Amino acid sequence: MSDDTSPTTDSTDTTPALTDDPRPEGGRRADSLVLVNTGNGKGKSSAAFGVMLRALARDWKVAVVQFVKGGDWKVGEEKIGRQLGVEWRALGGGFTWDSDDLSHDIALAREAWGQAAALIAGGEYDLVILDELTYLCSWGWVPTEDVVAAIVNRPRHVNLVITGRDAPAEIVEVADTVTEMRHIKHAYDAGIIAKRGIDY
Ligand code: ATP
Ligand code: MG
Repeated sequence: MSDDTSPTTDSTDTTPALTDDPRPEGGRRADSLVLVNTGNGKGKSSAAFGVMLRALARDWKVAVVQFVKGGDWKVGEEKIGRQLGVEWRALGGGFTWDSDDLSHDIALAREAWGQAAALIAGGEYDLVILDELTYLCSWGWVPTEDVVAAIVNRPRHVNLVITGRDAPAEIVEVADTVTEMRHIKHAYDAGIIAKRGIDY
């Protein structure tokens, strides 16, 4: 706590003083954590790939499953991730906007989820990033309860990061840390297309 004589003290200012330690008292260590990055603003996937770098720096084994994009639309993190030994699976196959065969897309999505569930349950990876997974639940292609079961029953050391808009409440419920990226403005609103090195 800052004292009353502090020149920066202002009774209306709720900003914690720099000297306040944000760590909870008597904190415990978790064997693993589940992070969810959701919301309609930019930053969900790029934050997940930031965690990927942290994990690699600790010599963790990392797997990434991309459920929506992939194929021709490679993000820069894929190139670097593969170079650093990440098991990278781009399983999106461009579905939802290109395909006119929905049942084919649903089968692909379920196959992708099956691979992800096996990567989680196998326990070989310390971190599994499930990029854009929430859409498969929102569209009803993969039962949310299956995702919740995979999260809850995962090997204790397996950390997860899940991204995508509109994260289902059931997934939010079982996650440890959930962040909503809020759209304030985006270059796209001004008609600016995705930029290499920034957006992918
Ligand atoms: P990023 O991968 O940059 O962290 P994201 O994962 O939060 O973004 P997605 O919904 O996966 O966002 O969209 C990916 C692409 O769409 C990126 O090129 C990003 O810049 C763009 N994008 C993200 N949010 C918005 C938005 N609110 N309006 C328009 N484009 C967006
Ligand atoms: Mg994304």
